Parts: sequence; structure tokens; C-alpha cells
Amino acid sequence: MKRIAIFDTKPYDKVWFDKNNTGYELVYFENKLNEKTAMLAKDCDAVCAFVNDDINKVAINNLYENGVKLIAMRCAGYSNVDFKAAYGKINVVRVPAYSPYAIAEHAIALLQTLNRKIHKAYNRTRDFNFSLVGLSGVDLYGKTVGVIGTGKIGRVFIDICRGFGMKVIAYDLYPAKDSGIDYVELDTLLAESDVISLHCPLTEQTNHIVNADAFTKMKPGVYIINTSRGALIDSEALLKALNDGTVRGAGLDVYEEEADFFFEDFSGTIIKDDVLSLLVSKPNVILTSHQAFLTEEALENIASTTMKNLDEFFSDQFLTNEVCYQCDGGKVVENCKRKDGKRCF
Ligand code: NAD
Repeated sequence: MKRIAIFDTKPYDKVWFDKNNTGYELVYFENKLNEKTAMLAKDCDAVCAFVNDDINKVAINNLYENGVKLIAMRCAGYSNVDFKAAYGKINVVRVPAYSPYAIAEHAIALLQTLNRKIHKAYNRTRDFNFSLVGLSGVDLYGKTVGVIGTGKIGRVFIDICRGFGMKVIAYDLYPAKDSGIDYVELDTLLAESDVISLHCPLTEQTNHIVNADAFTKMKPGVYIINTSRGALIDSEALLKALNDGTVRGAGLDVYEEEADFFFEDFSGTIIKDDVLSLLVSKPNVILTSHQAFLTEEALENIASTTMKNLDEFFSDQFLTNEVCYQCDGGKVVENCKRKDGKRCF
């Protein structure tokens, strides 16, 4: 029986992986996968990893030397994998889509909570404080939302915003033809949007796409929503923009240094990340710890797609969800063998 080491496991992962197991010995580890913990996968045929695991060159070499043949990411994003180091040694698969609705709906939840101050109202009424002072929001109807990245999640988010009667403009490096989406230049989006929501991947190009310069181009009073990857936003520049009123509120499901904190309980310790502490302390910042994916439907899809990825790999089939540094995201490109219907290497 093939052994699969599942890293960064939480109780909810175990429930869905056990339920969807297609015949593997699943070995669960609470540790994140990194160069030190890679040795735990000794005698395992594959590892299953998540968004905040650090799968760098050393980790990959350690896995390879320990006989691991496949890295099955149980997420869509993969900016934490050194693909060049993995190429030729360990195949990498992912779960490209498990529920774009889960993430888009969470982005809307962050926006609605921020705008209508539900977080404050919840605390007030629990204390029998029924005052409305300071709880004013704005109608979203008629407001302009700027969507950066119009892939699976961005499109669902756009549909929901249209349902609210918002005007949608978008920026994407690869605009979707015939989608009916009103694409504009990034600077136009920054200047015209009342709400900006990020739905693009983290790449060299998008790292700090929302930086100090971008904030100077925005409408004063804009809401910023980020459910994609933390490093899309320069957090220190965001703090300044929150302080000077450029940003009316920020709804963040991700944070650039989240790997050190997210998914764990630090309630009894002093957080040494001042930027994180300052962000969390602001009443107009809502921070959730990378939970946008956390719906039952998404967890089921993550587990079942990961099993399908493992089944394909161990039965020598074409890997539907393989990614390498050349075909980045599984696109058909000249240098990757996927274009001939084969595995990346
Ligand atoms: P997708 O690949 O379907 O869409 C991404 C879009 O971004 C594409 O249209 C692409 O053309 C565009 N893009 C790429 N580079 C760009 C650039 N430089 N500028 C503007 N647009 C660019 O991906 P998706 O499934 O919609 O996911 C989007 C992101 O959401 C993922 O990359 C991931 O980081 C994040 N995500 C977060 C969670 C969560 O729980 N918070 C869960 C899943 C995904």
C-alpha cells in the first residue's frame, strides 16, 4: 500500500481525507512541511502539502533522497514550491479549483462586515449596547468595484457584485475574451474603484502590486479586500494608507508573513510582528487567517481531487493537475511535455 505523508494537518483535513481515501496509508503530521520536517516523509511515496508549507530547494532534495516521488499540493496557489528544484526529480500536482464560490463569498463577507460594521455591532449587542453611533456604512449599490484577476474566483466575485448592483471594472494580464467584463488599465482601476478586490496569483509581477505608489493613485475612502496572497499588498504601505484615510477599511484573509502565524493559536503569546499587531488592532481592518476556502464543499473537493491526483500518479496516467516551472499553472507551452499529452517530465 502506498504511504502518503499529509503535512500541516488539522482535524477538518483528517475528516475529509479519511472519508475520501481511495486506498492509501495516510500518515498525518501536524508539522508544516519544510527542510527540517521533510525527513518525516521517509518511506512515504508522496507528500501532501498546503499553502504555508515551505517547499524550498533543500526540502525538495530531502524529500527526493527519502524516496518521495510526488508532491500533492492540496491548494490552488503554489508560490511556496521551488518548481525549478523539483523539476526532473519530484512531480508536483495541485487542486486548481475546489470551490471558487467559497473564496468569492468570503471576500464578500469581509466587505459586508467592514462596510456595515457587523464585527462592532456583534460585540456591542452582546454587551446590551444598542447604540448605532459609529456604525454607518455606504450602499454598495451603484459603487464601482475594481477586480484584479478575473479567473475562476474573480469571475464569481464579479457575479455577486453585479447582483448587488455594483459597477464592475477589472484588470487582468490576460483579459477573458467575450466575457462581457469591462477591462481597464491598472491605474484606471486604482483611480476609479470604491472597492478593490484582489484575485490574481502571487508572481514576480504581482508581488506588492498594491504598494505605496498604488495607494497614491486610489480614490480616498477605498475598501481593499485581499483573499489571494498576502504579498500582493505591501503591508507597511497599507498601514500608512489606513492611517491617512486613503483606505476606509481592509478585509484581509491573507498576510505576507502569515506562514509564521496562521492556522495556529498564539492567543497566549506576545506577537513580535509589529505590522501584524498594528493591522489587527485597527477597527477598520478585518483579518481572517486564510479561511476563505473553509467550506464543507471545498474540503470535500480538495480531498477527492487530491485522491484523484494520487490515483493518476500511481497508475502511470497523464497528470491532469500537474504543474512545473515551465507550464506554470498547467498552461500549454512549447517547452513542457504536457503539450504532447505527457507528464511535465
Ligand atoms: P485563476 O488562475 O483561475 O485566476 C487568476 C487570474 O489572475 C487569471 O485570470 C490570470 O490571468 C490573472 N493574472 C495572472 N497574473 C496577473 C497579473 N500580473 N495581473 C493581473 N491578473 C493576473 O485562479 P483562481 O482560482 O481564481 O485563484 C486566484 C487566487 O486566489 C489564487 O492564485 C490563490 O492565490 C488565491 N486563493 C486563495 C484562497 C484562500 O483560501 N484565501 C483559496 C484559493 C485560492
